[in-house]
Amino acid sequence: MSVKRKLVVGNWKMHGSHAANAELLQGVLSAQPFGCDVAVCVPFPYLSEVAVTLAKGPLAWGAQDVSAHEQGAYTGEVSAAMLAEFGCRYVLVGHSERRAYHGETDQIVADKAKAALARGLTPVVCVGETLAQREAGETASVVKRQLSAVVHALTHCIGEIVVAYEPVWAIGTGRTASPEQAQEVHALLRAQLAAATPQAAQMRLLYGGSVKPDNAAILFGQPDIDGGLIGGAALKAADFVAIARAA
Ligand code: PGA
Repeated sequence: MSVKRKLVVGNWKMHGSHAANAELLQGVLSAQPFGCDVAVCVPFPYLSEVAVTLAKGPLAWGAQDVSAHEQGAYTGEVSAAMLAEFGCRYVLVGHSERRAYHGETDQIVADKAKAALARGLTPVVCVGETLAQREAGETASVVKRQLSAVVHALTHCIGEIVVAYEPVWAIGTGRTASPEQAQEVHALLRAQLAAATPQAAQMRLLYGGSVKPDNAAILFGQPDIDGGLIGGAALKAADFVAIARAA
């Protein structure tokens, strides 16, 4: 029996304000303790206030992106060392919105994951196919290719990452992958990781894409689903709490 704890990560995306963040975090904090690990990945400008609010509790925090570079002339980028200074434990890497709108390639994603690990952050590496790719029967090859770049870049450190499978067609659409569809891909990813590290069974593989209070338990009940990456439902304390309780 595995003793690994499930992990539920809120991805706030580009949402929030001082007032909204305070209300949301108070709502989540007042519902603890949780039986799983819980984290929130917030917009950069709010990292310092979130770090203060969450400092003494069990909730972890992180960012939604990180530079692949250590430092230098990279206007607008934020380094892993900077995130570490704000107490981040996690950073999302390769979210499909970054891949789609910011041209992040598999290699850039792998470099970012490496930069995060080098500073002690846990990268939550996102992979997932588009609807066109699923319909063309390319789901397995797409997610394998995306993960493979990271496996190659990290070699012996691959066991340190968290992987999030997020089918692009399920993100923000209200259309969730069925538990069977999600489990099928998670099993593939687990097998790919097992070929690279003896730690694969202990690694946490999250599902993301329209996870809600009413579908969280069945998704998290699948053998290879170790928690969730939550977008829209992470912005309402009651929903996020309900999802964390389902884990
Ligand atoms: P969603 O987003 O829960 O709103 O579908 C998930 C994500 O993009 O991480």
